[in-house]
Amino acid sequence: MNIAWTYEHKTYTLSNGVRYKPDFLLETGEYVEIKGVFNFQYDLAKIQRFESEYNVKVSILQEKDLRRLIKPTPFVFEHLKQEWKARTKVRGMDNFGKRNPMYGVTQSESTKAKIRAKAKARFEDPAFREKFLNSPKRKAYHQSRIGKKTGTLVPRISLICEICQRSFEVVQHKASKRRFCSKHCSIQAQHGKTSMTDSGIRSLTYAFALTNSEQLFSAKLNQLKDIFQPLLDSIKKEYNILDIRTICQIVVGIPCSRKEFLYHLRSYVQNVRGATTN
Ligand SMILES: [Zn+2]
Repeated sequence: MNIAWTYEHKTYTLSNGVRYKPDFLLETGEYVEIKGVFNFQYDLAKIQRFESEYNVKVSILQEKDLRRLIKPTPFVFEHLKQEWKARTKVRGMDNFGKRNPMYGVTQSESTKAKIRAKAKARFEDPAFREKFLNSPKRKAYHQSRIGKKTGTLVPRISLICEICQRSFEVVQHKASKRRFCSKHCSIQAQHGKTSMTDSGIRSLTYAFALTNSEQLFSAKLNQLKDIFQPLLDSIKKEYNILDIRTICQIVVGIPCSRKEFLYHLRSYVQNVRGATTN
């Protein structure tokens, strides 16, 4: 969105002694905090205290906000999320497995005893006991455990996926909303949408570098805008990305200037030429 930012720029100490490090500082002077559902409630008081003590504005973004922000861009939220997950070494991203914050954490014996005692005390109450033992949910659970289906299945409607043409089944009230069989197909359907490691943009760029290699090696630095223009036009046409920094991020791996982009393409051409002459 063409706003410059710094990540985890500084740690602040609040008047109650709590330390707080906002996620992002924007060039506009505003702070941005990215929060999951669980730590949102927990951290809210801290963030509000920071806002009032330092007289600043903090925007808290949750996943739904990020999805909304990314919608008009050429990027696909799921792609970015997967790339980010693959790159980060931090725990706490996943619902299960090694990156879940509770992975390998067990309750202590005293905590287990407390939970047991609480459950026992609750069960002493005859009203609770009655309700618990006759709960339809509990009965259904037991039925399913012994392999018996509970109740009749809701009728399904068969639809054809608009991307892979396979048929899939949905419950009636979702039939009007579903067009694709899977998340995979729905991402495929977002035409022109891309990711931060898009191989299509890379191959467009490298093909351009090979075709225009003479120009790239003789180029003066003040001509770079004109030289790269045809490439940017074709990327714009296919992917709707205009920003050279974003294109650099995708091709080189970091957002860089036209000059660094040029050097990257030159060394690519040299590598390819070197490999073929050998
Ligand atoms: Zn499909």
